[in-house]
Amino acid sequence: MSTTSALSRIAFDIATPSAEPRTFKVYTQRDLDKIEALNTLSEETRFEMRVVSSVLPFRVNAYVIDELIDWRKVPNDPIYQLTFPQRDMLTPDMYERMAEALRADLPREQLQALAQTLRAELNPHPAGQLELNVPCTDDGERLNGLQHKYRETVLFFPSQGQTCHSYCTFCFRWAQFVGDKELRMASTEAAKLHAYLKSHTEVTDLLITGGDPMVMKTKHLVSYLEPLLQPQFSHVQTIRIGTKALTFWPHRFVTDNDADELIDLLRRLSAAGKHVAIMAHYNHWKELSTDIAQQAIARLRATGAEIRSQGPLLAHINDNADDWATMWRTQVGLGIVPYYMFVERDTGARHHFEVPLARAWNIYRDAMQQVSGLGRTARGPSMSAGPGKVEIQGIAEIQGEKVFVLRFIQGRNPDWVQRPFFARYDENATWLDQLKPAFGEQRFFFEDEYEAMQQPT
Ligand code: SF4
Repeated sequence: MSTTSALSRIAFDIATPSAEPRTFKVYTQRDLDKIEALNTLSEETRFEMRVVSSVLPFRVNAYVIDELIDWRKVPNDPIYQLTFPQRDMLTPDMYERMAEALRADLPREQLQALAQTLRAELNPHPAGQLELNVPCTDDGERLNGLQHKYRETVLFFPSQGQTCHSYCTFCFRWAQFVGDKELRMASTEAAKLHAYLKSHTEVTDLLITGGDPMVMKTKHLVSYLEPLLQPQFSHVQTIRIGTKALTFWPHRFVTDNDADELIDLLRRLSAAGKHVAIMAHYNHWKELSTDIAQQAIARLRATGAEIRSQGPLLAHINDNADDWATMWRTQVGLGIVPYYMFVERDTGARHHFEVPLARAWNIYRDAMQQVSGLGRTARGPSMSAGPGKVEIQGIAEIQGEKVFVLRFIQGRNPDWVQRPFFARYDENATWLDQLKPAFGEQRFFFEDEYEAMQQPT
């Protein structure tokens, strides 16, 4: 055995599981009454949950309920706020419309029709995801389930991974989870993915995303990823897998039936020279606090994969610098690289979770000041907007005008990337489309080009 493989074998052995397997027990809207912990809450609160979860998706599992939520702190517990429906997630008008319908005990079809109407008012597909980013073959066939927004990165939405272990109520993927199949972007077709990648040698990064791809059985991940070990895919250097399973179901990596196969797949990809990046979604340091979560992290790291953390800044959950600093410090201690602080997107229950950009930047800055250099790798606050990922770099006064200093971290045109630009300071703005150019300019430098990109070809 070579020294390298011996070392990786040792690392693999060290990371073998020590936890007992746990059965995945899930609760959805229909099961709200079966969640014992909710019995301590008032009837009114439980009715509110029923109303909100008739519109927005709800799913939570016993691990989250038993081990991540501190029920003594409810309703202020951050993981409770993250997973359980809250009245203000709907506007007062929307809430009343659905509450009335439930009180009147309308038939199921009418409730569903109302839910559809209300969902359509919540901007289910921000940033033109469905229309703008789906690539075509040379014959003009749309490749549903793929997105090619930025030159070097392809996103793949495997159909078996379009759900999640639990649902986060702020999530911009929420439209996928409410049974609205035409809103789903998904693909089962490994052959089409591989054909597209083969003919697009400019693509260096493949992002497998969802939902949560780690919901899939390992055998599906193997069918998508193992072929990438062949020489014709040598340009695909990085495989990123977006997941929140390290929070919602870390057992996936430790004690589930096919956890070992998953670990082995990641190890083989890394050993073959691929950079495997687990893009772990975290919102709060509590998610990192259980033994099983830490074991999962250790096992993943022992494969050679990097874990990078990202997540949005959210009112009611993490809108203070101390929680971010604690989270980033804990992550660095566990070997995770802090990567992004996002701004809550312009969709779903946004009015409930959004934090003004000016405040978001102050929280980011305060948190950064509390961590060491290794924790300062997190970029942000960043908006994943239509034209690209736009980061707030600061608030400054230039020639007497107070401005936001902005830059593209990613742009639909790669030439936009890293170009600083300026917006008039606005204390209440929460998204890019609310900002106005500074210094008397009429338009931001990218707007004409972006508009042209949106025209049908
Ligand atoms: S995609 Fe991620 S953020 Fe959205 S509900 Fe699933 S786990 Fe939560």
